[in-house]
Amino acid sequence: KAKKHLGQHFLTDENIAKKIVEGLSFDGYNKVMEVGPGMGVLTKYLLEKEQNIYLAEIDNESIEYLKNNYSKVTEETFVGDFLKQDFSFTNGEQIAIIGNFPYNISSQILFQIVDYYELIPEMVGMFQKEVAERTAAVPRTKSYGILSVLIQAYYDTSYMFTVHENVFNPPPKVKSGVIRLTRNPKEGLAGNEVLFKQIVKAGFNQRRKKLSNALKILNIPEVLKTHEFMDKRAEELSVMDFISFTQLWKENQ
Ligand code: SAM
Repeated sequence: KAKKHLGQHFLTDENIAKKIVEGLSFDGYNKVMEVGPGMGVLTKYLLEKEQNIYLAEIDNESIEYLKNNYSKVTEETFVGDFLKQDFSFTNGEQIAIIGNFPYNISSQILFQIVDYYELIPEMVGMFQKEVAERTAAVPRTKSYGILSVLIQAYYDTSYMFTVHENVFNPPPKVKSGVIRLTRNPKEGLAGNEVLFKQIVKAGFNQRRKKLSNALKILNIPEVLKTHEFMDKRAEELSVMDFISFTQLWKENQ
């Protein structure tokens, strides 16, 4: 029986499961971690690809089920809670992420991926449609926000397809969307990551306000107080605008 507090909605459509797994390029890595395998609807197609598979699952019932039903899945396949991962088990090797993710922790999953982008060249997975759209959103749209900017700074995003509620058991309340992230860290980020995140978060936390107001909680360098971006709102800045603004900020701190 599905456990609501773990965000469990089991996919019942084999073709969609296959399409999600086929979204992985298997290019430049030989390890894959699936987040939230549940009863293994994606896992069985992944195992066919004969990669080194790691499973992040916190439901003991699912873990027992997978061990009993898939000969290639053993105790060592499991790596625990995805949000508590430090990825040390990969010994610095590249690992792709796949999943039909638990929607109650979607944003945390995406932030975790960004935090470990150096180890994660690719991610293919399903989120609630609204979150999937946010990852790929462009400036001056309602969906454009913290998630869009932080993810697009490190990854190229593509929206693969939409999935209807009725192919899940139990059906979720909203539609889902499958996306692919392909690592492509934008130039100018290196060394400025912490400040970049602070500026993006502060800017969008008060998204109706001009940056001159929204960024007040940070220590704005004197010379930037008259910068043209200060008269704009966060949603008007592109990802590259945020990066160049961060560089300028750092140089004048
Ligand atoms: N992959 C299966 C499918 O497509 O039918 C299950 C998907 S279900 C939407 C999400 C899964 O994530 C559940 O099996 C749940 O137990 C698991 N889960 C929830 N929180 C988790 C966490 N922090 N780390 C790893 N797995 C988690």
